[in-house]
Amino acid sequence: MPEAPPEPITAAIALGANLGDRRATLESAVRSLALTPGVDVLRVSSFIETAPVGPGEQDDYLNGALVVQVTLAAHDLLERLQTIERVHGRDRAQTQRWGPRTLDLDLILYADRVIDEPGLHVPHPRLSERAFVLEPLAQIAPQMRVPPLDTTVAELLEGLRRA
Ligand code: ADP
Ligand code: MG
Repeated sequence: MPEAPPEPITAAIALGANLGDRRATLESAVRSLALTPGVDVLRVSSFIETAPVGPGEQDDYLNGALVVQVTLAAHDLLERLQTIERVHGRDRAQTQRWGPRTLDLDLILYADRVIDEPGLHVPHPRLSERAFVLEPLAQIAPQMRVPPLDTTVAELLEGLRRA
């Protein structure tokens, strides 16, 4: 029997850039995702300027978020995100963690799934402390649920603002 087509999954993706023409890079990344088979881009946040978090002196980031509907498995989606990063000039072998990068794409939420595999943790482990992810995501998906917590994107952002 042929395999049943996978159920579409609603996922959230975070985008960030702090080198080069940041806006052009983020727009190009969104287009690359929209052209990916198995990915429908449902919503795109505005892009916001944020102060860098991480080692040393870095320029400000431009950050945004996407809501997509996918028929890709989570690890295939992450692989696609990493390919798009590479196409935009990010060389993971050369770049220090949390250092400057032309493009960073993170898988933040994958429906209500909790995934803990080598190289793939969803919801993104640092989601609740990252205003630069929660702010744009709350623009487009405030009510999206964040497992395994009994909470939403908007509530996490509110908690961060109160902290
Ligand atoms: P960050 O995105 O936290 O600033 P990096 O992009 O430098 O850090 O590191 C990404 C690494 O984290 C990759 O090797 C990737 O396999 C791993 N990773 C684990 N979970 C995720 C996720 N949900 N989204 C993106 N990368 C993830
Ligand atoms: Mg990343």
